[in-house]
Amino acid sequence: TAEKETLGFQTEAKQMLQLMIHSMYSNKEIFLRELISNASDAADKLRYEALADGALYEDDPDLRIRITLDKDANTLTLSDNGIGMSREEVINNLGTIARSGTAEFLKNLSGDGKKDSQLIGQFGVGFYSAFIVAERVEVFTRRAGLTAADAVHWESSGEADFSIESCEKADRGTTVILHLRKEDIEFTDDWRVRSIIKKYSDHISIPVQMLENVPAAKEGEEQKVPEFEAVNSATALWTRSRSDVTEEEYQAFYKHVSHDFSPALHWSHNKVEGKLEYTSLLYLPGQAPMDLWNRDAARGLKLYVQRTFIMDDAEQFLPLYLRFVKGVIDSNDLSLNVSREILQQDPAVDAMKSALTKRVLDMLSKLAKSDVEKYQQFWKAFGQVMKEGPAEDFSNKEKIAKLLRFATTHDNKAEQTHSLEDYVARMKEGQTKIYYVVGESHKTASSSPHLEVFRKKGIEVLLLSERVDDWLMNHLAEFDGKSFLDVGRGDLDLGDLEDEAEKKAHEASAEAHKDLVERVNTVLTDKVEKVRVTSRLTESPACLVVTEDDMGAQMRRMLEAAGQ
Ligand code: ADP
Ligand code: MG
Repeated sequence: TAEKETLGFQTEAKQMLQLMIHSMYSNKEIFLRELISNASDAADKLRYEALADGALYEDDPDLRIRITLDKDANTLTLSDNGIGMSREEVINNLGTIARSGTAEFLKNLSGDGKKDSQLIGQFGVGFYSAFIVAERVEVFTRRAGLTAADAVHWESSGEADFSIESCEKADRGTTVILHLRKEDIEFTDDWRVRSIIKKYSDHISIPVQMLENVPAAKEGEEQKVPEFEAVNSATALWTRSRSDVTEEEYQAFYKHVSHDFSPALHWSHNKVEGKLEYTSLLYLPGQAPMDLWNRDAARGLKLYVQRTFIMDDAEQFLPLYLRFVKGVIDSNDLSLNVSREILQQDPAVDAMKSALTKRVLDMLSKLAKSDVEKYQQFWKAFGQVMKEGPAEDFSNKEKIAKLLRFATTHDNKAEQTHSLEDYVARMKEGQTKIYYVVGESHKTASSSPHLEVFRKKGIEVLLLSERVDDWLMNHLAEFDGKSFLDVGRGDLDLGDLEDEAEKKAHEASAEAHKDLVERVNTVLTDKVEKVRVTSRLTESPACLVVTEDDMGAQMRRMLEAAGQ
């Protein structure tokens, strides 16, 4: 309908907008990055749809973004000739704030402005950042392929509602007009806006244009009319060579692909030639996103084929346990009309997946060696996910094992800082196994009575307390030729670590307490499988032990939690 409709934002909208405006106070300029990023995405989408239908280009194939400033009207206008939006798309995309994640986001707010502002980026709310500087925002948009009369005018002052009505728009794409707040007139300053574009959006692969500055004509000369000129360098960043890209550019590009407001921890940029040809740029985030444990959360890389954008979140290029990796893959081997279904069957994709997996594991092991502090930051954020690795990726088990970090009795600290290589280097003479204990918490694990004999003998034990640990140990089986042994299970055979005298004493003690053991066995017959004398305790009188082939206590809790 052509009539003007006023629709309400979803419930949490007002709160969300207030929060955004409030927490971005010291960093207002990022609104421009978000709007340019959307315009660039819109260009990508048009190119992609035009692969199947070239007519979508109409007679305007040169994709670009234009920014114009009006000091008198106090407006900043950003217009693109990308895919545009239909009425329905406008309502779906600009009418619901933060779509799925809003409620969860609001629950997670800490009140710490800096932290909270980082969360915003993870919720697909970039468009609304316009209200950081604008008291009113208008959008005029016409979808590629629709007629001029099918255009839509959206308007909102960023409070409870927005209005939408039909309008005429001859040229395809989207124009966003920001009516700036009085205190934000700096964003009508040509030099200021150019420097923001350079700072955040230089990597955008299409031109971001502004009107050139022309000198005033001298007497008798004709005044030159300003033309649009590109402000950014307008080449896809990953196609440039590593040595030409600055750290700031890599970080800006990371924000573009990840929607993470905090900087990347590390990255790896590679051009691969030979049987397969592709370029990859893979980033390690500095913090875990809130949906890391949500099975349906988007993951994967941005996929390009010969520099043409194909899709976001291509999951086929990395295993699940590396789902935190963000970045871009640009392939020369895939066809331009690949779909998710085709990706699943393409052997080239498998080959790339295994190469990219190695790439990430190598990046991690280099980081672990070159920057222990950064590696710890990584481990804190993503260690639990990496622990899924040995089960999922058998062929890289050894590599993953080296990347694992544990809490151990070496220092009893809860923080997981010890590698298996460290552990092996500290093994006692005659020790052939890697010992571990599993508890519900670090505290339970580290105060387990099973540790008594180990502490006495000075043998190090891994202290495991995460849900995934039993699962990990089941799949790890061994490291460096040494098998893992749960000290809380079965008969504890210390092998060569027990000297002859201790063995004799143990046997004698078993003989001496035979009657007692018999009696306890009869009393507890329904409750336990077996009662026996042990050498594993030095202070506690008794403890419960799981038999060797029983499931771990942690595993049992996990299955119980899953309702089994
Ligand atoms: P995100 O970009 O993370 O999806 P945004 O809040 O930045 O979240 O944008 C919301 C949606 O609005 C986009 O996904 C897109 O569908 C639509 N949109 C925003 N700007 C444009 C634009 N310039 N052209 C076409 N669609 C746009
Ligand atoms: Mg966006």
